[in-house]
Amino acid sequence: MGGVMIDSHCHLTNRQINEPEVLEQARAAGLTGMISIATDADDAMAASVIAEAHDDVWFTSGIHPSEAGREHDLDMLWPLIEHPRCVAWGEMGLDGHWPDPPMARQRPLFEAQLEMVAEATAQGRGPRGIVVHSRKAVDEVLDVIASSGLSGDRFVFHCWTDGPEVVERVLSIGALVSFTGVVTYQNAPEVAAASDLVPPDRLMVETDSPYLTPEPHRGVRPNTPAMVMHVAAFLAKRRGLSLDALEVQTDATACCFYQLKDGPKS
Ligand SMILES: [Zn+2]
Repeated sequence: MGGVMIDSHCHLTNRQINEPEVLEQARAAGLTGMISIATDADDAMAASVIAEAHDDVWFTSGIHPSEAGREHDLDMLWPLIEHPRCVAWGEMGLDGHWPDPPMARQRPLFEAQLEMVAEATAQGRGPRGIVVHSRKAVDEVLDVIASSGLSGDRFVFHCWTDGPEVVERVLSIGALVSFTGVVTYQNAPEVAAASDLVPPDRLMVETDSPYLTPEPHRGVRPNTPAMVMHVAAFLAKRRGLSLDALEVQTDATACCFYQLKDGPKS
């Protein structure tokens, strides 16, 4: 095992996660960093409390597309994005899997958040990275990103579920790609094939806990950050690398993307 292992995307505030126990399990498994991704402003606030209490936890601030059915006051995000342990915007994006909330509500919410990122950037405020949720909506997501004028290398497409052709389009704008347990599933060979195309300096691993438990534990609930090494081990094997070597790459990429200032510890 390497000395450093980061779960670049988990939801420690989720009610399925028993936070003290899950953090202990993660540390026992060798994790030294976890990024708790927000789904709305209240969730970002809750994640900030965890991050303040634990120096191996960071958080993000943004509104998930599944929350687009409600009204949101984006001004509530301003104090959070300036929190010293807030390391990215998001997650935000578009989800075409379910009819609800409709795209007509999701898209303006995504656009408004990217406008806010652009405004903050112009003022020298807020983190650099933007965590994107894109599910069955990549054309629209790429369209919104292009219209935002923001640099493509500021985005990570998390929980990759598409095949090689789609990943090539995302890589062509300079974006990063992050893989969950889905890449380990036997019924998702196109996701594994897509992973082969992602260069190491744009590749991250995550659990998206409490969802998507990787093989060989698929079906175990909840998923927890300790499971991230199964995602890393799968990708290492596919790339003909040791787990250590893969971890060194993905942790360096995560530290760079999330600009982890004071960590992780080795
Ligand atoms: Zn997530």
